[in-house]
Amino acid sequence: MTAPAPITQDVHTIPRMLPRTDRVNLLGLTRDNLRDVLIAAGTPEKQARMRVGQIWQWIYQKGVRDFDAMTNLAKPYREMLAAQFEIALPEVVTREVSADGTRKYLVRIAGGHEVETVYIPETDRGTLCISSQVGCTLTCSFCHTGTQKLVRNLTAGEIIGQVMLARDDLGEWPEPGRAPKNESRLLSNIVLMGMGEPLYNFEAVRDAMKIAMDPEGIQLSRRRITLSTSGVVPEIARTAQEIGCLLAVSFHGTTDEIRDKLVPINKKWNIATLLDALRAYPKASNSERITFEYVMLKGVNDSDEDARRLVNLIKGIPAKINLIPFNEWPNAPYERSDWNRIEAFADIVYKAGYASPVRTPRGEDIMAACGQLKSATERTRKSRAQIATEAGLAE
Ligand code: SF4
Repeated sequence: MTAPAPITQDVHTIPRMLPRTDRVNLLGLTRDNLRDVLIAAGTPEKQARMRVGQIWQWIYQKGVRDFDAMTNLAKPYREMLAAQFEIALPEVVTREVSADGTRKYLVRIAGGHEVETVYIPETDRGTLCISSQVGCTLTCSFCHTGTQKLVRNLTAGEIIGQVMLARDDLGEWPEPGRAPKNESRLLSNIVLMGMGEPLYNFEAVRDAMKIAMDPEGIQLSRRRITLSTSGVVPEIARTAQEIGCLLAVSFHGTTDEIRDKLVPINKKWNIATLLDALRAYPKASNSERITFEYVMLKGVNDSDEDARRLVNLIKGIPAKINLIPFNEWPNAPYERSDWNRIEAFADIVYKAGYASPVRTPRGEDIMAACGQLKSATERTRKSRAQIATEAGLAE
């Protein structure tokens, strides 16, 4: 099924009984937006709230896309819905499964653009790494996505659609007529660590995550959702207030000189400004620590001194540190630190009192590991020279 172009329309101008081809995609609409389009389509106001609840459960709790299967709605109403609306997910173009069980989906969205989504199964959980932009606003020099110019932000439907297509693939929807499965979930965690800077697409990310957390829908706890930002300081507190999920920060450097090169947004909000925002993060606590992501780059940011500086910088912040062995990609300007260097670094961090798990690279054989995502079809790539220049690495 090719994903028909979602229509971005001001719902209040929709005339009744739209022609068939202009059907509104309900996927990703907030409850209020859904109510508005149902009323605009002829649903009596006093029934709208109930209809929203019923349709919401069919879409997000049962995974139903066919209005005719929504049997607690009257037949004529289902026909009206089918005439005016659709529930269209992004299209899965390719599905690759790594030897370690990691799955990578190349997903096509409106306009023919493509993004990547990665499912990482583990013994005690299953994590979906989702994308929020086609390409990226930013140009972190260690990141493959950073070599791809930003094409556009994903809509809330295209973001939550990644969760739904993964649930389809995992067979995680309840059998029709059966109660939702309560055994352990295959897709138990979401990380916004795929392509793009989620805080540069705040509203769509927020609306999609609210759908994922909704108790009448996908019912994922906010503590099972982690949003990773490279440091868009003005949106950090808002993340706590409006999404309430866990926070991770792409930190990667312990001096502004180094971080300017690795995460150029540091030139806008430097380490001190970022740390102030994290110290003030309303949701941070010992049970909800902020994750500091730290990619291990050979001879760049992996010295013992870097490790000591890192633990000093984050003093007073409820934190854990994720050490990420660099995952190489074609023409990457860096190498992964040697394992004994990574272990020595982790040891210093651990002795300073921080959990410092070393992230096991997953799905490397299918280019699904952290920092390797890039939709090959998007040709708007930056040259190696451009990456080096922007990262201040040019000779
Ligand atoms: S690390 Fe994140 S913010 Fe930086 S370029 Fe990659 S996708 Fe964008």
